[in-house]
Amino acid sequence: MSTIEDVAGVVESLRDEMVKFLVDLCSIPAVNPSFGGKGEYQRAVWLANFLEEHHLPVEIMEVDDDSVPEGKRPNLVSCLPGSGEQGTLWFAGHMDTVAAGDLNTWETDPFSPVVRDGRIYGRGVEDNGQAIACMVYSLITLKRLGLQPKKDLGMLFVSDEEAGSTYGLKYLADQGLFKPGDEALIPDAGVPDGSFIEVAEKSILWCRFTVIGKETHSSQPHNGINAGWVGSLFAVELIETLRLKYRDRDLLFDPPYSTFELTQKFANVSSPNVVPGKDVFTVDFRILPSWDLDAVVSDIEQLATKYEYQYKVAISYDFLQRVSAPLPTSPEAAVVKKLSNALIQRGISPKIGGIGGGTCAAILRELGIPAVAWSTLDELAHQPNEYTIINNMLEDTKTFAALALA
Ligand SMILES: [Zn+2]
Repeated sequence: MSTIEDVAGVVESLRDEMVKFLVDLCSIPAVNPSFGGKGEYQRAVWLANFLEEHHLPVEIMEVDDDSVPEGKRPNLVSCLPGSGEQGTLWFAGHMDTVAAGDLNTWETDPFSPVVRDGRIYGRGVEDNGQAIACMVYSLITLKRLGLQPKKDLGMLFVSDEEAGSTYGLKYLADQGLFKPGDEALIPDAGVPDGSFIEVAEKSILWCRFTVIGKETHSSQPHNGINAGWVGSLFAVELIETLRLKYRDRDLLFDPPYSTFELTQKFANVSSPNVVPGKDVFTVDFRILPSWDLDAVVSDIEQLATKYEYQYKVAISYDFLQRVSAPLPTSPEAAVVKKLSNALIQRGISPKIGGIGGGTCAAILRELGIPAVAWSTLDELAHQPNEYTIINNMLEDTKTFAALALA
């Protein structure tokens, strides 16, 4: 039998054990304190014990945080030595979850996972419990077969992904854990057929504009300055100008260009016969990573100046979110090639591309580590009746092991 068939056989034999693992893991609430929870400490204690009981190495890296009862946010690191190829292949799964939301929208108790029709239902089973199960059981499978990964293999079970990774992956990055020659897979994004390998993201800018004019009765408009009118003109010209200037294409992305969308519009006056003295709205910018966000901000400022001068308004803005995307992982990077090959073995045609922003693979790309986000899932993160498909969990475990051996 080939090594890949051996791996498949062991993973299949562990099916019931893996289901129990994920149910037990997700029975311990780990809601991020930013969503009103107590954090992932208790879940991490359980997971560290589980790894020890299975004779897997585990190192605990804690970070002080007063917002949780234990005062600490835990990160677990479990490494297997490789057979000599330089560098470490990292996998990172996050232990924290978002809150359950409105319990009336759940058909089952989100914190007592239920196995039904080949799926497991519960908060955090997909985001990101599935990844943790696949990571743990790919280690168990390799150990059971006495197989050694090519590079060192590092499994990271991290905190705080749902609130920006300050106490998780960013902390580990600041500690100098990642070195040139390393590569990474973040199993925290994916599509139902497992074909999409995410290598890039756009920069995100959420900009809230406030246009101040002068309120007046709408029968006497010459006594005021209509902030709603000027704000509308400004929004349209801004968006049209930027769409024209930043219209280059990058076929890694869908859509393959930067996007500029007028989104939120905030309440102004309470009567139809009042000229608004204030207009507030947001624009969501998603910019291809080849552009510097500073260039976009400079364009915003120049147009704001023109409008202030021409219409005697005051225009201010603040950023509700500003994240500069790092340069993409090359589609030619070894980790992309190895994952693509493993997927082809699985009968899947890989599609390599970028998304609109927001995975923690970006933290590693920022350090120059080739990182991909990939897994097989129905994209139920943060939704009621979140579930994970047991077959996906098994297949992804085999893929993780294949990647480590490639
Ligand atoms: Zn996640």
